[in-house]
Amino acid sequence: MLRPLGPSGRALRPAAAGTVYLVGAGPGDPGLLTVRGAQLLRRADAVVYDLLANKALLQLVPPGAERVFVGKSGEHGHTMEQDQINDLLVSLARRRRTVVRLKGGDPFVFGRGGEEMLHLRDAGIPCQVVSGVTSALSAPACAGIPVTDRTAAKSLTIVTGNEDPGDCAGCVDWAGLAATPGTLVCLMCVKRLGVLTAALIRGGRPARTPAALVRDATTPRQQVVTGTLEDLATRARLAAVRPPAVFVVGEVVRLREKLAWFEARPLFGRTVLVASPRGRAEPLRAALAELGADVLDVGVFRLAPPPDPEAGRRAVASLGSTDWLVLTSTAAVESLWTTLDGVGLDLRALRAVRVAAAGPATAAVVARHGVRPDLVSALRSAASLSEAFAAHELRARRILLWGGPETSGAPLDSSQEGPAEALRRLGAAVQTVTAYGLADEPTPAAVLERIDAGEVEALVLISGSTTRGLRRVLGAERFAALAAKAFVASIGPMTSAAARRLGVNVGVEAAEHTMRGVVDALAGSMPPRG
Ligand code: SAH
Repeated sequence: MLRPLGPSGRALRPAAAGTVYLVGAGPGDPGLLTVRGAQLLRRADAVVYDLLANKALLQLVPPGAERVFVGKSGEHGHTMEQDQINDLLVSLARRRRTVVRLKGGDPFVFGRGGEEMLHLRDAGIPCQVVSGVTSALSAPACAGIPVTDRTAAKSLTIVTGNEDPGDCAGCVDWAGLAATPGTLVCLMCVKRLGVLTAALIRGGRPARTPAALVRDATTPRQQVVTGTLEDLATRARLAAVRPPAVFVVGEVVRLREKLAWFEARPLFGRTVLVASPRGRAEPLRAALAELGADVLDVGVFRLAPPPDPEAGRRAVASLGSTDWLVLTSTAAVESLWTTLDGVGLDLRALRAVRVAAAGPATAAVVARHGVRPDLVSALRSAASLSEAFAAHELRARRILLWGGPETSGAPLDSSQEGPAEALRRLGAAVQTVTAYGLADEPTPAAVLERIDAGEVEALVLISGSTTRGLRRVLGAERFAALAAKAFVASIGPMTSAAARRLGVNVGVEAAEHTMRGVVDALAGSMPPRG
């Protein structure tokens, strides 16, 4: 095995217990983290991160891991000096097995990743680099600017704008760059933009060369200012562009006129609040983010253990003498399988029973567990369930109604009949199991601040219970203010009815009562800004 050599050329002592991984966090959009980066974050014992690394990525890190913010960024000054960061990495690696040094963009592109690695090498600490998506490439890409083009740009230069153009040894040769054809991408450029554009013109680049400044690229806050070398600095000042931004120069900038795709998405930059049971909104969040929205995901309650777990266990043990098993929510389906597993049973316990699912979303999760439901109601409501059962003889049939506190205990919708009563009316003998509990989840202060600042432009409601839950966790007054200001999209008639009873003015209701449906409805009818 090769052992790292110290500065003197002698072999260092055996490697310390830990390895430091210099991981590129990507330019801002958490989706641009690499798969390997995500794997390492998931098993990290310690994470050292920058200002530019998206905080959302820290959700991947195990709860027990150490997190150290070192606040470093090109133009904002340093919270921690580079020497201190280097020493911190060494000391963490001596105590921890997997130390992730998460750096904005790519660790080796103007990230001082090389310096950190040299320091670790000298301390005898193993270090690996996990490349990231650099802002130098993805900022132009998200602005609709291909950095190379078969006719317009056959080379690309990436340069720092963080020093005054001058004649020092090792300085960026701006006159040379001005004379180099192809695309120029400049990072850390905002403060000196006027000086840099002037230096390029002085060096011989035509003043009319197209140029762009791309700020907060890849995020819902992305801002692009275009112009020429002559006027870009003035335009950027008027638009109050602040760091971080990338400055792009070259004929390829013209392509943005046709290729600007990022801002063309229907919900680009719009702040959308989603109220959901905690941890269940990911598909919805992802679908909204895909359309460009800045999503505030408020988990209004989290699943809690059932009030009487023994009742569930007894009920699954007697499935053999049950005619119908009715599952009323996706969480109910999951809890059924947890309960079966807990008593040593599996799919085969459902052999003799017919399975009904309330609503297509519930049915989809049932199917994912390998069971084709015998009956699916159109909606997740008591009325819809009894309608679906109309074709079946239920007299004296034994039904096990398996659902959350709102379905098996209280009715789905407090003003209407619950599913148990509805099915009893059809003659069935209904036994209910409350398969899980719900506990209110406090809203994070950062989200409350944005709500209070009036930033939320749209509210997505996916059930009556989450709508009522949102009102509970926000308080009646804040909820009313939010609902009055935001455009409200509802997933279906039940949810709309529940929302209206709370005084909410529903702006649009999904034609198809699914997450996809409500996203399409919002995208299709969101009023323009202002
Ligand atoms: N290693 C990073 C660069 C770090 S230097 C990378 O590969 O992207 C910091 C500079 O990166 C900022 O001053 C800015 O020029 C650029 N930058 C980083 N994130 C950016 C973003 N989301 N939008 C525009 N520029 C960004």
